[in-house]
Amino acid sequence: MKKQVIVIGGGASGLAAAIMAKTNHHSVLLLERNHDCGKKLSMTGNGRCNYYNQDQDLSHYHTTEQEVLKEIITEDNQKSLLTFFDEIGLVPRIREGYYYPYSNQASSVTKLLKKKAEELGVQTETDCLVQTIVKKSDKFYLETTKGPKQAAVVILAAGSKAYTKTGSDGSSYELAQRLGHTILPVLPSLTFLKGQEKALYKIWAGVRSEAILTLYENGQVKKVEQGEIQLTKEGISGICTFNLSRFVAHGLLDGTKEEIKINFLPCLEKPTKEIARNFFEERNHKLKNRTLAELLEGILKEKLITVILKKAHLRESIAWQELSMEEQDRFLEILLAFPFSPIQTGDYEQAQVCQGGIPLKEIDCQTMESKKVKGLFLVGELLDVDGDCGGYNLTFAFLSGMLAGKGIK
Ligand SMILES: Cc1cc2nc3c(=O)[nH]c(=O)nc-3n(C[C@H](O)[C@H](O)[C@H](O)COP(=O)(O)OP(=O)(O)OC[C@H]3O[C@@H](n4cnc5c(N)ncnc54)[C@H](O)[C@@H]3O)c2cc1C
Repeated sequence: MKKQVIVIGGGASGLAAAIMAKTNHHSVLLLERNHDCGKKLSMTGNGRCNYYNQDQDLSHYHTTEQEVLKEIITEDNQKSLLTFFDEIGLVPRIREGYYYPYSNQASSVTKLLKKKAEELGVQTETDCLVQTIVKKSDKFYLETTKGPKQAAVVILAAGSKAYTKTGSDGSSYELAQRLGHTILPVLPSLTFLKGQEKALYKIWAGVRSEAILTLYENGQVKKVEQGEIQLTKEGISGICTFNLSRFVAHGLLDGTKEEIKINFLPCLEKPTKEIARNFFEERNHKLKNRTLAELLEGILKEKLITVILKKAHLRESIAWQELSMEEQDRFLEILLAFPFSPIQTGDYEQAQVCQGGIPLKEIDCQTMESKKVKGLFLVGELLDVDGDCGGYNLTFAFLSGMLAGKGIK
């Protein structure tokens, strides 16, 4: 039966929901508080939009209810999502399993979605902030900055509170809570980390380096990430750091002891002290007795060499063969397991996504309909799902939006 549907939020999940609902012959009104839809979407992936990944292992998604999530990220749903992308006209450029638009422009994804919505006849009202939603008998009554609205179905797609300047300021949580939903603690995720040793970080600021990061929680390995890290004046950043930040944010709140060990020698076959010792013995022999700083030349950037030697309390001019066994050990330990104690994550303004939100057990995972309020559908980042870097957050936003649009009966 044709229904009057209001979609709140014209981001990735809202646009997908509106398109699918209209494709299924419902009457759709999309309300967006900004002057235009897709502000965040057009900034994603450094302006290139990494919207999907061939590797859909569930370990890339985080939620308190992994079992429910399994019912959403199914192979069939992924196939439907790829068909959806194809139908809106998106041509993928696939690099090592990561999907980007062939144009390499995030804004083209937004434009394709908007064009499809417009062609189908989705009505869009921008500059329209939804302030309240009340359900009376079978209808939803909305107060907005553009006057009252009503509908039989509401799809709440108003995002989280990450990158507030894009429009998602957390009002989605308030709207859902007032309708009776639980909100699990919302914390920043995919963001940088600040550490304790500012004087050292001042030296390495601006350097990028290959590394392996191992996050320990109360002494136990929690997650390992390998790739390029960015060294900043306050600590560390870059994709590997981002992927650890959700755990750190949680741990700092809970009082868990969080420590990251940075291996700056991922070029070695194994990060053991003995392998590293042999490596420097041979290098020193080949290069005929150079200083430690000279031995690290060509492996690490100059500023990072300074930090490593400072942290190991060794002079730059000291030569390998002058080191005592204890000094060698200290030098190798710092190179292989530089200790980084996070004291803070970036805040909501600086986080790409939020973790926490509405628990998945409060929705029907086939349709994304609320189990608490009939006719209310909840999609995108406001739900308790966050993904690693690599397209997982947009995949979840598009997929959940698509399921809601299809699920209206
Ligand atoms: C810089 C950056 C880069 C990113 N890069 C990637 C990437 O490459 N790959 C990836 O997978 N993920 C990426 N993400 C994450 C991804 O963009 C989000 O997870 C995704 O956009 C969430 O979609 P959404 O529809 O739930 O929310 P949003 O895209 O935030 O959309 C919510 C919309 O609702 C509107 N709204 C909010 N409240 C109201 C209200 N009360 N009334 C009316 N409208 C309202 C907002 O203005 C907004 O337009 C990135 C995020 C950022 C910030």
